[in-house]
Amino acid sequence: MELRQPSSLADVDGGLPLAGGTEVVPLLRDGLVEAETLVDIRAVVPKGVSGTTIGAGTLLAELEADPEIPSALREACRLAASPQLRSMGTIGGNLLQATRCWYWRLKYPCFLHGGSTCHARQGEHREHAIFGNEQCASAHPSDPAAALLAVGATVRTDRRELPIGELYRLPTEDDRNVTALEPGELILELEVPRPEASHYLKAMDRARWAFPLVGVAAARFGDGVRLALAGVAPIPWALDSADALEQATPLPGTAYKVELARPLIRRALDAIA
Ligand SMILES: Cc1cc2nc3c(=O)[nH]c(=O)nc-3n(C[C@H](O)[C@H](O)[C@H](O)COP(=O)(O)OP(=O)(O)OC[C@H]3O[C@@H](n4cnc5c(N)ncnc54)[C@H](O)[C@@H]3O)c2cc1C
Ligand code: SF4
Repeated sequence: MELRQPSSLADVDGGLPLAGGTEVVPLLRDGLVEAETLVDIRAVVPKGVSGTTIGAGTLLAELEADPEIPSALREACRLAASPQLRSMGTIGGNLLQATRCWYWRLKYPCFLHGGSTCHARQGEHREHAIFGNEQCASAHPSDPAAALLAVGATVRTDRRELPIGELYRLPTEDDRNVTALEPGELILELEVPRPEASHYLKAMDRARWAFPLVGVAAARFGDGVRLALAGVAPIPWALDSADALEQATPLPGTAYKVELARPLIRRALDAIA
């Protein structure tokens, strides 16, 4: 395998992007992705926070300590992974991490891998989805993505700008990807509005180093409130209101997530009131 280390965006010419490598290296090791060329993008993707702009190469460890960013995003970064992973992992890589569904990670030929069946729906699915789970019941693992969705962030790539809600898409028969990025498209920056108040709460199996069973992000802009959830659908999930939780379609083993989400939503809304 070839490792390229371009020094400018103009020098990037295909290949699999490598940022902190905390996700891409295990995926390569386990044969879940294949690449002839790895492109170390650390020198070409912006880093750091400037006003409302966050470079996609900024580390989660930097964001969790930055008083200027919305508190929901700061808290979502602080509660993600472990200190070691947050010292390597970037926000851009975090948004593009793959599902933790054990069937997918064990290379079962499931719907998301291009097959016709979701093994989790019939099998073990305690950590899986309660929304958008008809064909793939995986649960999106990113805490920061839910926070960014709640504050209405915009993603700037090397080709376009798009609201973060449009970065993600449910997998379909025709396209099993869960993001709308084109091959080779790089996330460069995030434009993150400043809500008047925001909050992130996370239910997890352990107090540290655990993916969200349910994460709830809430943000208030004037009289308007935006809610988004992590760990409940194959993509970060926006909720129109707290009542919209009742439209969940849990599987037998994920019904408890509805009960977990309800008080978290109430507490997050109280926190930003
Ligand atoms: C044990 C463990 C526990 C974790 N727990 C949590 C958790 O609780 N909550 C949570 O939110 N996350 C969690 N994570 C995920 C972790 O936060 C991510 O692995 C990390 O943020 C990824 O960043 P990276 O820079 O290392 O990405 P990489 O591994 O370098 O890349 C990840 C993916 O994104 C692509 N990529 C990276 N940057 C860009 C870019 N700028 N443009 C286009 N493509 C890009 C890569 O090609 C690859 O496909 C956990 C990870 C592990 C291993
Ligand atoms: S939940 Fe998605 S990733 Fe997991 S087995 Fe079903 S189709 Fe595959």
